[in-house]
Amino acid sequence: MRDPRYDILFEPVKIGPVTARNRFFQVPHCNGMGYRDPSGEAYMRRVKAEGGWAVVCTEQVEIHPTSDIGPFIELRLWDDQDIPAVARIAEKIHEGGALAGIELAHNGLNSPNLISRETPLGPQNLPVVSWNYDPVQAREMTKADIADMRFWHREAVRRSITAGYDIVYVYAGHAIGGLHHFLSRRYNNRSDEYGGSLENRVRLLREILEDTREEADGKAAVACRISVDELLGDEGITRAEIEDVIGMLGEHPDLWDFVLGSWEDDSVTSRFGPEAEQEPYVRGLKQLTTKPVVGVGRFTSPDMMVHQVKSGVLDLIGAARPSIADPFLPRKIETGDLEDIRECIGCNICVSGDFTMSPIRCTQNPTMGEEFRRGWHPERIRPKSSDSTVLVVGAGPAGLEAARSLGNRGYSVSLAEATRNLGGRVARESQLPGLSAWIRVVDYRLQQLEKLSNVDIFRQSEMTADDIIENDFQHVVVATGSSWRRDGVGRWHTRPIDVAEGAEVLSPDDIMAGQRPRGPKVVVFDDDHYYMGSVVAELLAKEGLDVTLITPAAHVSQWTTNTLEVARVRKRVIRAGVTVLTNTAVTAVTPDGVRTACAFTGDESTVTADSIVLITARLPHDSLYHELQARQSEWAAADLKSVRGIGDAWAPSTIAAAVWSGHRYAEELDEPQPLGPVPYLREVAELAEEPVTYLPITPVQPVSNY
Ligand code: ADP
Ligand code: SF4
Repeated sequence: MRDPRYDILFEPVKIGPVTARNRFFQVPHCNGMGYRDPSGEAYMRRVKAEGGWAVVCTEQVEIHPTSDIGPFIELRLWDDQDIPAVARIAEKIHEGGALAGIELAHNGLNSPNLISRETPLGPQNLPVVSWNYDPVQAREMTKADIADMRFWHREAVRRSITAGYDIVYVYAGHAIGGLHHFLSRRYNNRSDEYGGSLENRVRLLREILEDTREEADGKAAVACRISVDELLGDEGITRAEIEDVIGMLGEHPDLWDFVLGSWEDDSVTSRFGPEAEQEPYVRGLKQLTTKPVVGVGRFTSPDMMVHQVKSGVLDLIGAARPSIADPFLPRKIETGDLEDIRECIGCNICVSGDFTMSPIRCTQNPTMGEEFRRGWHPERIRPKSSDSTVLVVGAGPAGLEAARSLGNRGYSVSLAEATRNLGGRVARESQLPGLSAWIRVVDYRLQQLEKLSNVDIFRQSEMTADDIIENDFQHVVVATGSSWRRDGVGRWHTRPIDVAEGAEVLSPDDIMAGQRPRGPKVVVFDDDHYYMGSVVAELLAKEGLDVTLITPAAHVSQWTTNTLEVARVRKRVIRAGVTVLTNTAVTAVTPDGVRTACAFTGDESTVTADSIVLITARLPHDSLYHELQARQSEWAAADLKSVRGIGDAWAPSTIAAAVWSGHRYAEELDEPQPLGPVPYLREVAELAEEPVTYLPITPVQPVSNY
């Protein structure tokens, strides 16, 4: 039963003409599915509604072809053709019992219009502020353009109402919603009534809020999402300005959604910011309006949520990531099952879906993005279809998830782990600077496994092929992980590099096991490009070593552009005193350091060091798998039916991928392979009717050579 302390979270909140049944509010978030996979998105949102969120919103929805932020994949309401896809999402949200919110956006300066080829529009002539530095400028909007934009927004409101939405957003946040650009001195130096004073800069927002209210006509609530501080001092939107904006427009929308700065500022990873980081920026704004206020803070703790409401910071607990990691978070609080909450670890793998234009995935929740196409559900899994016994070898993220999900299906599972510790790489990596929240991947699974009497865990049980053949398991899944290489092979070098005799080469595994370089000067060569290189450099620098980080990429931890971390990573390693050499490869380890080559010219140089840490690639621990495969002739006698590999033992990847592969194994065990060569449902675009007006192809005249 629910703890009465949390009753306040289940109070209804009136939002203009609609009422949220509790305070849990899934704020708009991108998902890499959008217009390409609308049913995928619809079912993902439906699961959240089912999980107890009173309001479930779409991501930003482009209102017009001049607001095209392709290649990123969001929803569109460019014209009536887009209504059915957007309507399906509202329908599925309603099926789950929530109010449906839609975040309308004209992206202004943020839209390079690569797909539509329209000229970008902004408050002034400026290069677009798109993610890829597109060589495109926006045109300063004339009064006629402003009138057009208001008309397009009205049309999108009309379409949203037709599509069944209950809450319609006006987006002026994150430097993504174009109204943000009008509001900010950074982007708006107009001299007409839409620029200059705050009153002028806010004019277009006011007009669009009024248009939206008029068009919604009491059929839907109007929400305004706005950045409360651009964190640029007087160069951009300040908190004082936002207080004045609320003074002017406080009663215009039915709901305020307060965000912080740009997306990078608002969706900070746990490596760089704590839960509720936004609180000091948002506190006090609610008191300036009678309208309800929603805001985020990577909230996973119900006590923190209660604090937000009781201390008058927020009325509604906004969540994107916590609702991705656990779509059933509100339900679990409601039923008092707090220990079942799958807490977000704050890694931003979910964000990478948007940046890589692929369906959203989550480290904690392997079913995210698979609700429609694979029929997976975060809380339910089909019962077992045989009485087979299963041995899971290795208790890293892949093995733990396989055991948990197989256990939930009702299989009799043995989980054997070579060491005393459960958690594999996650247990080790969560000891590194900034990564402590990652242990939640293990904690959640161990908590769940404790409840499953059909899963037995055996520690200090290193399994050999003989052990397995001698025992009575029908299915064996090898989740034995991987080790970091020490030979330099990775992306840059596909053959081992020269290492001088006597040189000290360490790997991240050595560092995590507590080994340290033998002298004060160390080179970290990062050819992995995710977090490990910068984390190890930071760790060693903080321990007082003189660290040079060398990478062939243009950025330190280049891939973290996809997790919104790349700038913070760089700042942190600089602040830690690390010397950084980008666009440089280590080509050999010498007795007194390393030889390097410029990534472009090949020009050679040297860096002296006592030790080198090579962070390049990993080798799967797949010998057990291969040995078992080689002994297939003995399987029948041992009643062994299948041996599979999952996680890093199959092919090293992210923790999210390991969890996903463990889950997939459990979902598919004993099940007939569905659907043929593509093992999931796809939505293939319907071909348009061919326009009859197009000029026919001129037939090629036959040429006679005779
Ligand atoms: P993944 O990310 O794929 O889950 P990890 O490296 O995190 O991989 O975890 C693999 C786990 O498997 C480690 O805890 C390791 O100790 C364990 N392991 C490796 N080989 C064996 C084995 N032969 N028997 C039992 N456990 C093993
Ligand atoms: Fe949280 Fe990481 Fe899942 Fe995103 S991917 S919801 S940050 S656990």
